[in-house]
Amino acid sequence: MTRSYGHFIANQFTNADSPNFITRVSPVNGEAVARFAEGSTSDIDAAVRAARQAFDTGPWPKMDAGARAALLHKWSAKIAENREKLARIEVEEVGKPIRYARADMDTVCALIDYAAGLGMHSHGLAYSSIGPNRTGVVLREPVGVVGVIVPWNFPAETFAKKVPFALAAGCTCVVKPSEFTSGTALELARLAAEVGIPEGVVNVVTGYGHAVGNALSGHNGVDLVSFTGSTRVGKQIIASAGEHTARAAVELGGKGATIVFDDADISDAVSGALMSISFNQGECCVAGSRLLVHSSIADTFLKKLVEAMAGLRIGDPFDESTDIGSMIHGDHFRSVIGHIETAQKEGAAVLCGGLSGTKEDGLLITPTVLDGVSPSMSVFRQEVFGPVLAVTRFDSIEEAIALANDTEYGLANSVWSKNIDTVMTVAKALRSGIVWANTALDGALQLPFGGNGKSGFGRELGEAGLEEFTSLKSILIHTGKRTTGFGVAPAVSE
Ligand code: NAD
Repeated sequence: MTRSYGHFIANQFTNADSPNFITRVSPVNGEAVARFAEGSTSDIDAAVRAARQAFDTGPWPKMDAGARAALLHKWSAKIAENREKLARIEVEEVGKPIRYARADMDTVCALIDYAAGLGMHSHGLAYSSIGPNRTGVVLREPVGVVGVIVPWNFPAETFAKKVPFALAAGCTCVVKPSEFTSGTALELARLAAEVGIPEGVVNVVTGYGHAVGNALSGHNGVDLVSFTGSTRVGKQIIASAGEHTARAAVELGGKGATIVFDDADISDAVSGALMSISFNQGECCVAGSRLLVHSSIADTFLKKLVEAMAGLRIGDPFDESTDIGSMIHGDHFRSVIGHIETAQKEGAAVLCGGLSGTKEDGLLITPTVLDGVSPSMSVFRQEVFGPVLAVTRFDSIEEAIALANDTEYGLANSVWSKNIDTVMTVAKALRSGIVWANTALDGALQLPFGGNGKSGFGRELGEAGLEEFTSLKSILIHTGKRTTGFGVAPAVSE
């Protein structure tokens, strides 16, 4: 049965029966799975008003951090109770394998619990070293109303890398999920209200990016826009937030490299390279979509990689054994095919997958390995966002570093070597926000996540992930008879 949703504003669903709606069809079989209200500027106005009121006059920003943490933990527990339902929504709308969707929900809970703890440790600074009669206090305060705009590849997880951290800092949010995958954002907001998170703290408006996304990023009532998505849209978000001097934090695309040296543990590196390009059908910002492999081991390595790829199961995402599900929609499916066609025209050799490994019925693409890719080819430079791996060989550490950094993006790379000198030399030279050494697509809640260059700026996770949603206030307190400051004596004379 088709799920039907309105917007979620001030802890209530509105516009559920709006004549303007978006139907999400299953990427697997084209059947309708959900109906979302198609929002407008006035829906964004209403949601920002609710978030503004909750921030300016509501209890949330002033609440003891412990009380906020208790509510966030309750939210996480409620999500855990609803794990299977939420995971199935994610499978229906994204087309990703069910067991990965369940793992996403576990990550969502872990992110919320982590953010709750961070909120209790968030603190400012005090200076007692600025003169005998003066004390400086730096308060770390919530930034205000946050506009959250997220993509379709990890809908719940991306929501949870932002919203709980904003909430733990004391902010309120208006979320604009992807028009393809709005279900879990709405359900997560509903569960937040159910556990007692006050009205106006988490609001969700659904609709298209050019309409509601643009209205949100350009809204004067928003203090910070936290965006995850493509570099193309990210640039528009930065401009639109800048129009009303709101801050922007943007997590954008990537073109990561898996760099394999001749002294790597080959079976580990093969499984890392496999995971890096096939996880979430390659629809992953931190995908290792370029394989840089030392010439002396390249043939052996590629043979093992192709064999491992043949063992992946592609198909129905509800099947417990499926490793690779559907591409998000037909246009994206055709764009990925276009990248494979262009690469072949430009001279790349298909080692597995390729056009013969695509199936329009179900939007399935078999992981594809393209050998003989040079930096001048478009598949080396452009984000494909599908299971398509571009292979380039190198002969020296200097060449490996130069190839890895030969991209406008700077999100995540992995380096595989058993030599600590090689690992550290490469890790330090890479211009990316994330480097994995002898592991890939790995993460810890404590480690900041984000990119450089065209991969954006801003950091999620770690302490930085909460600080993103705060602003600093300096208070200078003078005690006793005023002896410094304008009209008295200069501070330096003390
Ligand atoms: P997208 O940029 O097309 O859309 C992202 C969101 O922005 C959607 O909600 C969309 O509706 C909205 N949007 C579109 N136009 C807008 C506008 N003019 N104003 C405001 N909002 C607008 O991205 P996508 O296709 O949904 O997702 C894929 C992209 O996301 C890839 O490039 C991928 O690398 C990136 N991504 C990055 C990260 C990261 O952490 N760096 C994580 C996941 C995905």
